[in-house]
Amino acid sequence: MKKLNFVVIGFGGMGSYHARDLIGKNEFVTTYGVYDIAEDKQQTATEEQFTTYQSYEDVLRDKAVDAVLIATPNDSHKDLAIQALKSGKHVVCEKPVTMDVAEFDAIMEVVEETGKVFMVHQNRRWDEDFLIIRELYRQKQIGDLFQIESRVHGANGIPGDWRHLKKHGGGMVLDWGVHLLDQMLFMVDSPLVSVYADLSYVLGDEVDDGFIAHLTFENGVKAQVEVGTSNFIKLPRWYVKGLKGTGIVHDWDLSGNLVMQKETTEKVAPTPIRAGQGLTKTMAPPSEEMIVRDTLPAGKADFSEFYENFYHVVAGEQEPVVKNEEVRDVLVLIEKIFESAEKNQVCHLEK
Ligand code: NAD
Repeated sequence: MKKLNFVVIGFGGMGSYHARDLIGKNEFVTTYGVYDIAEDKQQTATEEQFTTYQSYEDVLRDKAVDAVLIATPNDSHKDLAIQALKSGKHVVCEKPVTMDVAEFDAIMEVVEETGKVFMVHQNRRWDEDFLIIRELYRQKQIGDLFQIESRVHGANGIPGDWRHLKKHGGGMVLDWGVHLLDQMLFMVDSPLVSVYADLSYVLGDEVDDGFIAHLTFENGVKAQVEVGTSNFIKLPRWYVKGLKGTGIVHDWDLSGNLVMQKETTEKVAPTPIRAGQGLTKTMAPPSEEMIVRDTLPAGKADFSEFYENFYHVVAGEQEPVVKNEEVRDVLVLIEKIFESAEKNQVCHLEK
């Protein structure tokens, strides 16, 4: 099958990255053109030698176009996707795919009718820090994980313009939250049972500027997912506890390590330490004789790169790495996060 011709819809931060790098430098797909409603963005695209279209209808009428990549503000994804599918185009849509489950289901109806491929760009499934933790979860180097903490902390507030506005799908749950929640549900091989969430409104009350969600899975795994935009000192990207040890990934630089219990019958008690105005043995570091330190495992994806996978899905040769049912599960969880925060109570997921 020849390379798929993509038109990038929305030439902003993410769309231009797709056009130049992700689609632009890929052997399976190519940036055939660009369309943005803003004249200055069209101008920039032209200066960068991209072919631009004068309207979305022009894109959809062009028979040479196989697919569109939708990278516009969140509230516009549904209509743009439905229009493209109905015009016989395949669609890659940026995250969050839609504002809510109902919008997503409306797209799925059209996918069903048209038989076109629709995939959401959950690109952070390929992030190495995540893949390291997924490897720990699967290979159990520190035993079965029972607590997983996933965080991103920044101190720059909410970026851009539309991300501050509710009607455009602003806020951090729908922004970074979608990535972290998607990673968590993709990794933990057990149904989600319940969630308790708290949203933060440090910068104003229009949209959340951060949140903490406590997830409980049927297999007993507990996860804490946190996004903060007023954190001048960051907590680690990942902190995980297993039955035999603890792991940490500090940041996207992938620094971090594992500390495990030594498999030995010998018991060497820790030396008490001075803690504040007292002494403690409980909180003293374990004695060196009782622990083993190790480096983090490698984090490699055991699935194809996003656009390579998309190409093979269109060709009917591979299953999508990002399945639409999984995307829907994340939206269901997001709705429960908003409900939990509003009611200040634990919300249960339906089986
Ligand atoms: P942005 O504001 O930088 O760019 C959006 C662009 O869309 C603008 O140029 C705007 O003029 C254009 N636009 C708006 N409505 C349009 C329409 N109807 N038709 C054509 N163009 C239209 O925003 P961004 O940061 O690039 O975010 C765009 C999308 O990408 C969002 O859904 C966001 O969540 C997602 N995103 C994903 C990632 C990721 O890592 N996967 C990262 C950043 C953004």
